[in-house]
Amino acid sequence: MPQNALHGLVGLAVCRRMGRNAAQAQPWVMGVILGLMLPDADLYPAGILRLAGVIDGFDVIHRTATHSLFLVVLLMILGGVFRSKPVWSAACMGLSLGVGLHIFLDVFMWFSALPLLWPLNVLGEGDLGVVDVWKGVEIPEMAKSFRDVLEMLFAAIYLTSLAKIGREDPGTSSARKLKGCVYVCWGLLAVTSVVAFFVPYDGKMVFVTGVLLLVFVLPVLWWQTWRLRAPITAWCLR
Ligand SMILES: [Zn+2]
Repeated sequence: MPQNALHGLVGLAVCRRMGRNAAQAQPWVMGVILGLMLPDADLYPAGILRLAGVIDGFDVIHRTATHSLFLVVLLMILGGVFRSKPVWSAACMGLSLGVGLHIFLDVFMWFSALPLLWPLNVLGEGDLGVVDVWKGVEIPEMAKSFRDVLEMLFAAIYLTSLAKIGREDPGTSSARKLKGCVYVCWGLLAVTSVVAFFVPYDGKMVFVTGVLLLVFVLPVLWWQTWRLRAPITAWCLR
């Protein structure tokens, strides 16, 4: 990460500026936005393994394969391979750009090291390709708690944006359904903001926000993005 919905907002901004030039607009737009959001899907296996107490999945799985520059290159190559299938090619090129932007944002906006050349850092000696712009900076526990709480704030802002985009498209009956999700996100923001003052980050706070993310916030963000792919594309082309 940074906050997953913040990635989504960056995706909307990028596609709004560049969407007009995309030959296959919808697969390209969805590729960019979901490419920005989906690398954090590795939180699911990481979270399950951590809860099961098998290994610390956040160290072993999160921000590895889905955050590697090799994935960006692989998607770009696939975009070329699928040249005869324009929809697949556009989706791969969009995903490549989206994942690349996700990695760029993660390097600067999340307080930890990122193995840009995974798996070389695991296979080889030393920390090959590991970038840590926050090295030597002591991050207070409270800052980490509120970094996670901000997931709810950006989710509310992102879903509000999607509702607005949906309303502009007369063929979509999306706005009302989204409103409920937006209210839930504002509610979660209020509750987790209070809880963050009383619960230490590594004690329980990381689990509180982690479970909310995995069970509600991330599935809603990704599903609503996909569900509104037609009005989002139309908005980006306008
Ligand atoms: Zn990430």
